[in-house]
Amino acid sequence: MNKSSSFAEESHGELKSAVRELCREYPDKYWRELDEKRAYPEAFVQALTHAGYMATLIPEEYGGAGLGVTEASVILEEIHRSGGNAAACHAQMYIMGTLLRHGSEAHKRQYLPKIADGSLRLQAFGVSEPNTGTDTTQLKTMAVKNGGHYVVNGQKIWISRAEHSDLMLLLARTTPVDQVKKRTEGLSTILVDLRKAVGHGLRIRPIRTMMNHATTELFFDNLEVPVENLVGEEGQGFRYLLDSLNAERILIASECIGDARWFLERTCRYANERVVFARPIGKNQGIQFPIARGYANLEAARLMVARAARLFDGGQACGPEANMAKLLAADVSWELANVAVQTYGGFGFAEEYDIERKFRETRLYQVAPISTNLILSYLAEHVLGLPRSY
Ligand SMILES: Cc1cc2nc3c(=O)[nH]c(=O)nc-3n(C[C@H](O)[C@H](O)[C@H](O)COP(=O)(O)OP(=O)(O)OC[C@H]3O[C@@H](n4cnc5c(N)ncnc54)[C@H](O)[C@@H]3O)c2cc1C
Repeated sequence: MNKSSSFAEESHGELKSAVRELCREYPDKYWRELDEKRAYPEAFVQALTHAGYMATLIPEEYGGAGLGVTEASVILEEIHRSGGNAAACHAQMYIMGTLLRHGSEAHKRQYLPKIADGSLRLQAFGVSEPNTGTDTTQLKTMAVKNGGHYVVNGQKIWISRAEHSDLMLLLARTTPVDQVKKRTEGLSTILVDLRKAVGHGLRIRPIRTMMNHATTELFFDNLEVPVENLVGEEGQGFRYLLDSLNAERILIASECIGDARWFLERTCRYANERVVFARPIGKNQGIQFPIARGYANLEAARLMVARAARLFDGGQACGPEANMAKLLAADVSWELANVAVQTYGGFGFAEEYDIERKFRETRLYQVAPISTNLILSYLAEHVLGLPRSY
């Protein structure tokens, strides 16, 4: 049994209670006030970092906990189950994987211990562009080598946490698409030091969204990045991106599971307490059946997330499982969000009950980081052998 799975079996209870305890310091009111101001949960992120949770996946030799995606999932699920939102910082967990798997030893020694102790934040991942959407191989941002630098020009959109991160992993084209054999070639991953870049070739514009998410648009205008910031081999960035996607899907799925559990617990409590026509509304099957169905779907989705995480930690292929985990977990969090609003009636829309806030937050996962349609296309084509639809 590997270290990760033995830890998983022995001490998940302990890990869960420790995370829950930390989250108790950040109750509904904390998140509600931030939501209103669309402000970053700085104190929460600091607390998570100091408790070592942000370094869960960093190997011990670089100052981290050296644990697996299974444990990272437990942490993210508990944060969301408590009513919080780990979207403010979760990306560090999977972006760091690209550096770990493909970065040079010098890169790892330079960055990982500082990321582990919290003195550096690597929370931004620059992939999406306004004109290419999900068709990543068509992205237009170019990084052209000129002496000791890459000169970056282009635009990115939906780059979350760029204003709250020291480093960003950028995916850019280093060879034009018409000069490569396969369109997946010629893309590269480059570490951008945001502290030096902003105001010197990089402009960040925040985007206000329906939920509090600290996402932004980036404009590159002859930004110079030292060539030594290239991670891995030039032109292989798309492959590195695919590598990190399974971890990302499993971790986001865990957040959805946490949201679903939060909705379920709140909804059961309210259905028992709210009395209409002289009886708790939960006594009506019209109220209790959707909750019970949501619970069954939640338990099934949890099994898929656990299976995907186990495969990932065991170094086995887990593309279908990671995608199904994300699909099922995002579906059940959205299902239970709707059940919660219906059960709460008018109060589901009142800010002070937090249902509407979590409802807005969990809606994102039908679209990002990968949309439900694209997961279905993946399963149809790669698992079921159906023709490619696009
Ligand atoms: C709040 C937020 C935070 C984000 N954070 C980041 C981040 O930090 N870094 C980053 O790089 N990106 C980030 N993203 C971007 C996110 O990954 C994309 O929004 C997502 O992948 C969908 O891409 P798109 O918005 O370009 O949609 P499009 O690709 O334009 O697609 C629009 C719709 O069409 C559907 N569609 C497209 N093609 C097909 C097809 N062939 N078959 C069926 N349906 C199809 C899609 O499913 C979708 O529903 C974020 C997005 C949001 C909203």
